[in-house]
Amino acid sequence: MRNPLVVGNWKMNGSRTANAELLGGIVAARPFVCDVAVCVPYPYLADTAVALAAGDIRWGAQDCSAQADGAYTGDVSVGMLADFGCRYVIVGHSERRALHAEGDTLVAEKAKAALARGLTPIVCVGETLAQRDAGEAQAVVKRQLSAVIHILGHCAGEMVVAYEPVWAIGTGRSASPAQAQEMHAVIRAQLQAATAHADAMRILYGGSVKPDNAAILFSQPDIDGGLIGGASLKAVDFIAICRAAS
Ligand code: PEP
Repeated sequence: MRNPLVVGNWKMNGSRTANAELLGGIVAARPFVCDVAVCVPYPYLADTAVALAAGDIRWGAQDCSAQADGAYTGDVSVGMLADFGCRYVIVGHSERRALHAEGDTLVAEKAKAALARGLTPIVCVGETLAQRDAGEAQAVVKRQLSAVIHILGHCAGEMVVAYEPVWAIGTGRSASPAQAQEMHAVIRAQLQAATAHADAMRILYGGSVKPDNAAILFSQPDIDGGLIGGASLKAVDFIAICRAAS
């Protein structure tokens, strides 16, 4: 039995005032039956750690360096995230892949660095619309995941995978429950071939999840919660999505 996980990805949004209100609203809605986390911009980690210190809501970051330390101006190491109590770090988000040219191997190295410091990487995979239209969706996702499985080796069972079709992110056009389940089953099968822990691993769906489509998506057998972008910025919507996963 997998306990669902719902993770808010704030992206590059927020302010100290707005975050305090958002986190206050989420904390006030506890308890949740599912696991809940928020991945916030780096400068807000300290405030977030204080706001969530007392409860069971976890927090994390949206990226990390694959390096432990050194001359990497502007980068942030997993050790630094651990210093702020992060439980999770998103790696390989499609916006990082597209806007920062992050490739499969770098994403896998980041996931490895996260696990080495005790953080759980949330590894994002997903195809573009052109790739789906060309019938390449499964091949693309398998290739992205295979790089991570290869580099994590026997630790692969410790990651969380997020299937996020690029065409569904921030567009208001979610994958249908059947489309999402189909890809999640493919991902589960690939994980089963690689690790004995696959049946216990959480595979999240991300891409225009809203309060009105969350329950049907989360009811699919291989969808174990969600990675939530836009709807995680409004407490009432994020709380409704967390409840839908419970
Ligand atoms: C995301 O950025 O990971 C995401 C899923 O965004 P949205 O929910 O806004 O589509």
